[in-house]
Amino acid sequence: MAMDAPDGAEVGLPGQKGGAERRGEQWESEAARLFARGSVTRSADVIVVGAGPAGASTAAFLARAGLDVLVLDRARFPRDKPCAECLSPQASRLLDELGVLAAVERSGPAHLDGVAVRSPDGTWLFGSYGAPLNRRHRPYRPRSLAVRREVLDQILLNAARFSGAAVLEGARVTDVLYDGTTRVAGVRAMLRDGSMVELRSRLVVAADGLRSTIARRVGLAHVSRFPKRISLVAHYRGVEDVGSYGEMHVERDGFVGVADVGGGITTVAMVVPARRARAMAGDSAGFLDRWIASHKHLAPRFEHAERIGDVVATGPFASQARKAWAPGVALVGDAADFFDPFTGEGIYAALRGGEMLSQYVIDALRAMSASRANRALHAYDLARRREFSGKWRIEKVIGAIVGAAPLMNRAARALATKRDLADLLVGVTGDFVPARAVLNARYVGSLLRHALFAPRVPPSVRPLVP
Ligand SMILES: Cc1cc2nc3c(=O)[nH]c(=O)nc-3n(C[C@H](O)[C@H](O)[C@H](O)COP(=O)(O)OP(=O)(O)OC[C@H]3O[C@@H](n4cnc5c(N)ncnc54)[C@H](O)[C@@H]3O)c2cc1C
Repeated sequence: MAMDAPDGAEVGLPGQKGGAERRGEQWESEAARLFARGSVTRSADVIVVGAGPAGASTAAFLARAGLDVLVLDRARFPRDKPCAECLSPQASRLLDELGVLAAVERSGPAHLDGVAVRSPDGTWLFGSYGAPLNRRHRPYRPRSLAVRREVLDQILLNAARFSGAAVLEGARVTDVLYDGTTRVAGVRAMLRDGSMVELRSRLVVAADGLRSTIARRVGLAHVSRFPKRISLVAHYRGVEDVGSYGEMHVERDGFVGVADVGGGITTVAMVVPARRARAMAGDSAGFLDRWIASHKHLAPRFEHAERIGDVVATGPFASQARKAWAPGVALVGDAADFFDPFTGEGIYAALRGGEMLSQYVIDALRAMSASRANRALHAYDLARRREFSGKWRIEKVIGAIVGAAPLMNRAARALATKRDLADLLVGVTGDFVPARAVLNARYVGSLLRHALFAPRVPPSVRPLVP
């Protein structure tokens, strides 16, 4: 059941200190005092490692259920996170469930009507979340939110605090602890002052993102060989012609997402093959500038734009844990799987993963034996597969097409000509149309027919928004 949205004082923006934030700080200073005395014995029902969307959502749902939850993050919030910052429309349901939709709306996000994709030959295709075909699937909101992660993640973390979770920032988890068997029973962490602490819990949640330390320590991490891509992300003011569609520009040498994220700011997230890493080493800003300047349709739009802050690099991405649990530990969000940012639904998967996992953690903690607790976590793994496997397949197909220009041009031509196919696909990536709506012979047949026979759409430089 949805909780009442905490008011702005409780779930504030960076810089505003509400009651919950102050409580978190009090806990933190008390913890620091205990740690300094070397008398750390803090134990919790659940330790959540990582306070991004996956960790904050898991912690909030568990704390609401009355569990003693401790969240650890190596960063100090508000912190930025390289991301194109577009949520899927269905993420609004989870924000509402967490009681923070109103706070996110108050923070001044952008609202996106859909997605515009430009293929390497200049064909534009558009998919609209609110198209009549998609309305039949009842999206929670017909538009999606785009909001800076610095803002969103702070609001989500404050919601976890508000729900009763204790949060310790600046605590880097370096290893897991075992209970004398193969069951994880806590973590070892390094605090800001360099001291090491051991923290015990009945269950550990790994929400520590891509390259999860916990997943590696318990032998669950698995990095995929394809696609090997890396990204550069930056914020700009003054990019021209940024409308209410999130843009994806696919080129032969990578792709770039351009989206309004509110407050006159545009997020630019460029993704290129990992073999380009050497070319960007030491000068990621220069690499990004040169990349934009070398694409004729993009360059004029950035002529008067000003970059705000640093260009942040991240990747390679593709990784999927062998399974999402081991005795005493469960993985959620990017720590469990992350494929490619093109379809951009990682935040939804992180929030939804937290909602799902919380049910199974409660079952695992109620279980009267270790084997029953394992069964509950195994059931979580199965539920994740049921929930996300259709999307994983679609992501992989789209990832492969995006990496092959001739295929991308053909697909774009088909989707530009047959608008309802594009709308439906965008609805699936928006998490409110089930994957089976496009994973069927009828849809694929129609797409192939149009890909083969649709005439070339005249290329255009700018998105001619429908
Ligand atoms: C270029 C790019 C563009 C993207 N664009 C979009 C988009 O437009 N829309 C979308 O929905 N998704 C997008 N994503 C994906 C999205 O960013 C992730 O899926 C999402 O952030 C996952 O949330 P998370 O909580 O699992 O991980 P994160 O948000 O990465 O949070 C993990 C947290 O764990 C902490 N941590 C890590 N290691 C440790 C440790 N050892 N000890 C303590 N703390 C630790 C980190 O400090 C961090 O706060 C994009 C990703 C990339 C790379």
